[in-house]
Amino acid sequence: PPVELPIHEAVLGRAAEYGDRPALIDGTDGTTLSYEQLDRFHRRIAAALAEAGVRKGDVLALHSPNTIAFPTAFYAATRAGASVTTVHPLATAEEFGKQLRDSAARWIVTVSPLLETARRAAEIAGGVEEIFVCDSAPGHRSLIDMLASAAPEPAVDIDPVEDVAALPYSSGTTGIPKGVMLTHRQIATNLAQLAPIMPANPGDRILAVLPFFHIYGLTALMNAPLRQGATVVVLPRFELETFLAAIQNHRITGLFVAPPIVLALAKHPLVAQYDLSSLTHIVSAAAPLDAKLAAACSERLGLPPVGQAYGMTELSPGTHVVPLDAMSEAPPGTVGKLIAGTEMRIVSLDDPDKDLGVDESGEIVIRGPQVMKGYLGRPDATAQMIDPDGWLHTGDVGHVDADGWLFVVDRVKELIKYKGFQVAPAELEALLLTHPGIADAAVIGVYNEDNNEVPHAYVVRQPTATDLSEGEVMMYVAERVAPYKRVRRVTFIDGVPRAASGKILRRELRERT
Ligand code: ATP
Ligand code: MG
Repeated sequence: PPVELPIHEAVLGRAAEYGDRPALIDGTDGTTLSYEQLDRFHRRIAAALAEAGVRKGDVLALHSPNTIAFPTAFYAATRAGASVTTVHPLATAEEFGKQLRDSAARWIVTVSPLLETARRAAEIAGGVEEIFVCDSAPGHRSLIDMLASAAPEPAVDIDPVEDVAALPYSSGTTGIPKGVMLTHRQIATNLAQLAPIMPANPGDRILAVLPFFHIYGLTALMNAPLRQGATVVVLPRFELETFLAAIQNHRITGLFVAPPIVLALAKHPLVAQYDLSSLTHIVSAAAPLDAKLAAACSERLGLPPVGQAYGMTELSPGTHVVPLDAMSEAPPGTVGKLIAGTEMRIVSLDDPDKDLGVDESGEIVIRGPQVMKGYLGRPDATAQMIDPDGWLHTGDVGHVDADGWLFVVDRVKELIKYKGFQVAPAELEALLLTHPGIADAAVIGVYNEDNNEVPHAYVVRQPTATDLSEGEVMMYVAERVAPYKRVRRVTFIDGVPRAASGKILRRELRERT
């Protein structure tokens, strides 16, 4: 059943009971915040924000890399009645300004190193009342000082069904970023749906290396583990050596990562120098993960197979996950089983009214209590995505096997249409990664002289494979796939452009061709 609670209640309802147990640990300097502190601090700050003028329905922009203060700021803002729009910490002032204007944000919470960007963004957007800082900066109220506030706790009447708790902007991988309105009930319900199969238990130590500002990090690394009394070790960014050292030093048990980190764990020589024996499970989501790569990673680390999860910002975000207790029996490559209280159909790409059967690939469509309220201020875009019967069209292609395991092929928009056939870039990327001389790869469709769309591979060579040639790469693929899937062009590059969530930014590659 749907959970009708404000998100801070749904997550922190048992915080007082967890007491002295560490909720958050700064992975860089070891600073620790207990559950009791998290609970008390976010209430104090909520009171101070209300006193500063934050009202129910206001939009507050949270602009920060991962820190142990991030969750406190988030729950304080929702408790004060605000909707939180999370902002990419590397956004330019122009990008941030657009998000502020689009969301009509009245408040910003930032950190001192990003203050200049926040100030310029506020100037560009207009309408921002005040900029607060999590740490401290001259001329700005700080969340630390707010801890001393004697203001009474705000009596805000939150309606979990209607009120927007989070307003993340979709990644913008395929188009312009849009504000995704997620209500308290949608997020709280999705957490409850995920909890029984993706548990983070009190003894677990989760490493938060993916960004909290993105819905995957916000859910898997912040809301879910804090709701369950686990400990979250926080890193501000992914840097391989710091990441490996944090797993070793903090005896991390669970990792929620994206495919590029699985790739590093499977292939990078540095991995062998660290003791990663505390790990019990790895979950990957946000982008296609090849089964062979997943197996190489788990075999190297001596772990059960890497499990996947599937979701999108518009779905609060999860719909599928490989249950932790089924990681060994799940078929390789699956993104998991449908979670409780959610419906799915696979429909024909040519005719969305036609349902497909077992093992047939089509568009994944979803209905359930976690489907977003809509895109902020874009009823047309919302109506394009959610049909009148409440089905959300994901834009992803997939199929389901006889046992109900879902396999995601790729995005509909990324499929390369070659002479009536469809080629999934993700499949070719996975194949390229099996070549020992290839460190990373991305594939896009480009038009050749005959006006046919053909696969073009962008390849990063391993440092030891400087003589790997275009011909060799094409031959490697040609020997392993049907002729229509062959890579017809190869370009060597230094690195594959990726979003913070780990997704390949194919539009950046397209701009290069
Ligand atoms: P935008 O919609 O702005 O273009 P985006 O779709 O990248 O951005 P997100 O909501 O972060 O924004 O990503 C959701 C998408 O990520 C899904 O639609 C799907 O394509 C992909 N995805 C998520 N999990 C998986 C997975 N396990 N395997 C394959 N793809 C996945
Ligand atoms: Mg999307």
